[in-house]
Order: sequence, then structure tokens, then C-alpha cells
Amino acid sequence: MESKRQFSIILIKLFFIQYLSVLCAARNFDFFYFVLQWPGSYCDTAKSCCYPTTGKPAADFGIHGLWPNYNDGSYPSNCDPNAPFDQSQISDLRSSMQKNWPTLACPSGNGITFWSHEWEKHGTCSESVLNQHQYFQTALNLKNQIHLLQALRTAGIVPDGSSYSLESIKDAIKEASGFSPWIECNVDESGNSQLYQIYLCVDTSASNFINCPVFPNGKKCGSQIEFPPF
Ligand code: AMP
Ligand code: AMP
Repeated sequence: MESKRQFSIILIKLFFIQYLSVLCAARNFDFFYFVLQWPGSYCDTAKSCCYPTTGKPAADFGIHGLWPNYNDGSYPSNCDPNAPFDQSQISDLRSSMQKNWPTLACPSGNGITFWSHEWEKHGTCSESVLNQHQYFQTALNLKNQIHLLQALRTAGIVPDGSSYSLESIKDAIKEASGFSPWIECNVDESGNSQLYQIYLCVDTSASNFINCPVFPNGKKCGSQIEFPPF
């Protein structure tokens, strides 16, 4: 009788361990940062920029990346050396990527170096949820769900080189998306703080925007920030 009971307990324990390991394997990060970038601010720096070989990108926010992150603020990177970037897997997305995920690094490139870096550093850490095609497709879909430039324009915030308050920028994006973003600034050649990147958070299924569990601890913006033209 007693051994039967012990056997049942062992079975329950085994089942529990199995269940936990499945849970862990399915979710080895806590959320994503979806990071959009204003090309005018990437270019308006001492380092400057180089337009892609495919031409000057549209005057719109571009994707920087979709980054798996942990709730404590740290993040995994370069998770799978056995899954190198393979451009043949995203040939159907290429024109959309050129438009929405433009490279601005020098010397001019066709985007492969930038996309390959994003996949290998960040994308490989969400492979339990998204394969390479899904990773890029998902980021493109997320960008389509929020029209940042329009959201800002509605609030009278336009890339005309003037300055706007950090609060008004955050409010405009919250009004349009339902979620409060993190704003990252960089500095132009004269040392003015400008609107560089916008961080929104996305759940582990990569389909819903969520309130950010934690904000990045980066450079501060200052209360008034420039929105340069592109
Ligand atoms: P990450 O390593 O994903 O955190 O991104 C930072 C790297 O991406 C840096 O090397 C940046 O110079 C680079 N980067 C950021 N934006 C762009 C862009 N639009 N085109 C090319 N490289 C970029
Ligand atoms: P602080 O300037 O640290 O006193 O921040 C005032 C409020 O603005 C806090 O709620 C911060 O979390 C928020 N905040 C400060 N800097 C940023 C930023 N760059 N993006 C989004 N929220 C910010």
C-alpha cells in the first residue's frame, strides 16, 4: 500500500518536472522591445549616415529591431550560432524590409548586414516562438499596427526641426497605441537632444502590445526634444 503511494508521488513529481521543462523551453524570455527609429535623427549626428544602395528611405519611422528581454531589464543575445541569417528565407519580404527596415550605416549597403545582425543577435533568442521568416514578418506586421508619424502629427508634433516636450510625445503615442512608450534620444552636431528611438513592448507571442514590464535604462532625453526633418 505504502509503496503504491510512493510510486504515485514519484509519478506526480515526474509529471510536474516535465511540465516545468516544457514551460521553460517554450518561453526563455519575458517580453519583446519593438524599437522604431527616426532616420532624421540617425543621420543628424556627428557620425552622419549613408543611404541604402536602394535609395533614400521614406520620411517615416523605420524598424530597428524586435528584441527579446527579461523582466529584470537584462536580455539574452546571440542565442543560436547554428541558425545563421539566411536571406533566401525572407526573399518575399525583401521589398517591404527595404521600405520599413532601412539600413543607414556607412558605407551604403543593401540591408543584409543590418538584418543579419538583428537576427543573429536578437532574433535567435526568440526561436522558440518565431522562426526567421516569422521574426521579420512579425516585426513588419507590428509596424503596420501603429502609425507613429500619424499619431504624432495628430498631436501637432511634426519633423520640422523644432522642439517638443517629452511628455507631449509620450502622450501622443499613448493616445494612439494605448501604451506608454520609452523614448531614446541622441544628440545632433550642436549637442541638442533629439527624438531618436521609440520603444514599445510586445508579449511573448509577438502579437499584442503590452505595458512595458521595465523600461530601458539609457541616456536621458531632457524635457524638450528636437524632431529633425529627414
Ligand atoms: P543592437 O546591436 O541591435 O542593439 O543595435 C545597435 C547596432 O545597430 C549598432 O551597431 C548600430 O550602429 C546599429 N544600427 C542602428 N540603427 C541602424 C540602421 N538604421 N542601419 C544600420 N545599422 C543600425
Ligand atoms: P524623471 O525625468 O526620471 O524624473 O522621469 C519622469 C517621468 O518620465 C518618469 O515617469 C519616467 O519614467 C518618465 N521618463 C523619463 N524619461 C523618459 C523617456 N526617455 N521615455 C519615457 N519616459 C521617460
